[in-house]
Amino acid sequence: MKVLPLPYAPLDPVAELRRHYQRVVDTKFDGVIPRDFRIVFNPFLRRLTGRITYGLRLIEISRYHYTKYGMKDAIATLEHELLHLYLHKLGLPSGHNKDFKRLAAKKGIRVFHANAYPRNRTTPYRYLYECPSCRRLVSRMRRISGPHGLACGICCRTHTSGRWDARFELTFVARVMMI
Ligand SMILES: [Zn+2]
Ligand SMILES: [Zn+2]
Repeated sequence: MKVLPLPYAPLDPVAELRRHYQRVVDTKFDGVIPRDFRIVFNPFLRRLTGRITYGLRLIEISRYHYTKYGMKDAIATLEHELLHLYLHKLGLPSGHNKDFKRLAAKKGIRVFHANAYPRNRTTPYRYLYECPSCRRLVSRMRRISGPHGLACGICCRTHTSGRWDARFELTFVARVMMI
């Protein structure tokens, strides 16, 4: 009988993350960052794989992403959050800015995750748009934003061989509740 290796799932993943944290304070962050931030799993984070709140001295790791993508992913997230903390401790802006990306590349830290994730909850609201030409109604989960909006697909295909055209730009009608 062939025994398949089990996926790497430590018994106490938070303890594992804490150990990793203590290790990289010196090996990746020059001993600059504090060692006393708490690490917890957050069962609600979906879009984010993790989050750091300096004021609460708290690092949250998404339980969803850990469960789905494992310890390696949780460690990648932890190091990402610690890089925010590192810049913060150096008194620098600590968002996903140029310094963040430069240091992330240097230290082998992930900037953006590419994990799939479900939406927390589908909202009952939709944004209704109308094509000014054919009057077709289109509903969207989110408000359309950007330099120019969406155009009616049917009209663009019919009249401009699929190219975006301002004449067919959808106009906002209303935010409606789906019932
Ligand atoms: Zn971040
Ligand atoms: Zn149209």
